[in-house]
This record gives sequence, C-alpha cells and structure tokens, in this order.
Amino acid sequence: MKKMIYYVLAVSLMLGLYGCGNRTGGENGTAGGEQDTLRFGVLIYKFDDTYISTVRQAIQDYAEKSNVSIKLDMQDAQGDQAKQNDQLDVLINKNVDVLLINAVDAGSAQGLADKAKAAQIPAIFFNREPDKSVMESCGGIFIGTTASEAGTMQGDLLADLWGKNPALDLNGDGVCQYLVFKGEPGNPEAEARTTYSVKQAEARGMKMENINAGGALVSNWATDQAQTQMEAMLAANKGKIEAVFCNNDDMALGVIAALNSEGYNLDRNSENWIPVIGVDATEAGVAAINAGKMAATVKQDGDAMGKAIVEIATNAAQGKDYTEGTDYEIAADGVSIRIPYVPFTAE
Ligand code: CA
Repeated sequence: MKKMIYYVLAVSLMLGLYGCGNRTGGENGTAGGEQDTLRFGVLIYKFDDTYISTVRQAIQDYAEKSNVSIKLDMQDAQGDQAKQNDQLDVLINKNVDVLLINAVDAGSAQGLADKAKAAQIPAIFFNREPDKSVMESCGGIFIGTTASEAGTMQGDLLADLWGKNPALDLNGDGVCQYLVFKGEPGNPEAEARTTYSVKQAEARGMKMENINAGGALVSNWATDQAQTQMEAMLAANKGKIEAVFCNNDDMALGVIAALNSEGYNLDRNSENWIPVIGVDATEAGVAAINAGKMAATVKQDGDAMGKAIVEIATNAAQGKDYTEGTDYEIAADGVSIRIPYVPFTAE
C-alpha cells in the first residue's frame, strides 16, 4: 500500500501535477472498498441555465456509464460567487478526488485555484474560462470552446449557401448586403461571433457590405430587442437585406418574426427568403430551421463537453495525465482542451 502511494506521488510529480496532485490514491484496482470509488466535487455556476443543464446531465450520464465507479457531489451556486466559494470549502473538507469548477465569475477563479492547490486536489475548470495564469498557478486545466469558432462556422454556413444559390444575391451586384445582431458589446463571445462570422465569409471569397451604417445592431441576446431593430431595418431597407448573422438563436427568432410580418422567410423555397444564421441550437431555433424559416445555427455541444469532463476528471482523480488514453489533446496554450462547435442545418 505504501508503495502504491509513493508510486502515485512519483507519477504526479512526473506529470507536473505536484501541488494540485492526487493525494488519496483512489486508483481503480486499489485494494480497500472506499478507494475504488472516485469522488468528483462539481461546482456549477447556475443549474438554471439551458446550456449548463445539458452539460450537467451529460456529466451524470457519462459518470454512470464509466467503467470506474464515480460518485458526483454537485453544487448549485445560483449565480453567486460568494456561495460558490463556500461550496468549494465544503467539497475540500469532504476530501474529494478532483474538483470540477464552472466558475460564477471567471475573474475570481484565482481564489478557487489557490484553495484547490493548498488542498492538493486537481482543479478542472470548464465552460467559463479563467485567465491562463489561473490554470498555470495550480497545474489545472480548462475545458471549453474556442470563442472565435462559432462565428467562423456561421461564416462558413453562409458561404456554403451563397455558393449554392446565386439568387440569394438579390440585387445581383456580387456583394452580400448583410446585418449582424450582437449580444452585448464587450462580451467576449459576442465580440468574437460578430467579428469572425463576417471575417470567415470574406475568407471564403464573399464580398461583404454591412447595410447598417452603425455596424452591428446591439440587441443584448434578446428576441424582442432584435425584432424591434429588424422592423426598423426592414422599414428602411426592405428588399436590400441579403443575409443576417445573429450572435444567438434568441435574437435570430426576433429577426425572423420581423421578416415574417413583412412576408419574408415563411417558406424556404419562396423567393422572399434570406439566410438568417444563429448560434446555440435552442429548441425554438431548431424548430425554426426545420420549419424553413431560419437557415442554420451553430451548436455548443453540451453532451461532448460532459463526456470530456468525465474522462479528463477520471484521469486527474487517478493521478494520471489529463489526456492519457483519451482522444483529447491539450491546445496550443498548454492549459486547455477545446471542444468543437457543431454546425446545424435543415439537411
Ligand atoms: Ca447583393
């Protein structure tokens, strides 16, 4: 037994996990009933969040399906960082084998990392991305998406449609007259989606012209705000708008409501149809795509995220290298694993 503990320590050292390394053994096959079960302490920023709910469900599913025994201890911070700090203390006192942290405020993650490090428990951050230095400070890792990728996929989706349907160039000038509906200025996802959607369409050879003189239309992720703005845009530019990018599906649905009330986008095969492309693949977004009102969306794959979290946490809890025996790779930044977005169209 002593030998095993030395072995685990030695492996932790070799893997650079010292500090956040495994101290409890718990390796599968270790003698002694309790240690056969890996205990995951999971801190969720808010249970009541659509995307995070899918990740949470996937973590439960993959933990159950795992070939090692996993016990989850999941905590809901209800959007309150102070509450999450207390929950972390409780999980550390319970001596869990690994901490999975969906930080309420990624800017406060250093405090969480420091506590994990002091307790020598591996820290895996997910979805809400702390600064690189936070992971480096505790030998932790971040599992999430790449902010630019959703926008890049939106650009690809438009370029694919544009290439296939010359009639989408309504005025036949070889230029795509477009609009972008933006979440909040300064929000990293909103900024990246706004920039990269257009950038990628251009990289694919499209000539792009924003018809709104003020650039992106800020609608704060909200359906009603997007609808009001699109109504105003249509009043001034009816027949001139050839494509619409939206940072999320909720805003795309507002754009579509405005288009529908002007007789547009009621039917995919009608000539009064312009591509509207969102992000999220919400239930309502997918329904609009299947009904022929919306062109496409980009899905943040919660199931794939949950699978990655369970596999990587299992390794960490066993004192192994994060990606050992998995299909995942550490990204170029050295502290993260990126889960790809998935394009979704009607086909
Ligand atoms: Ca045109």
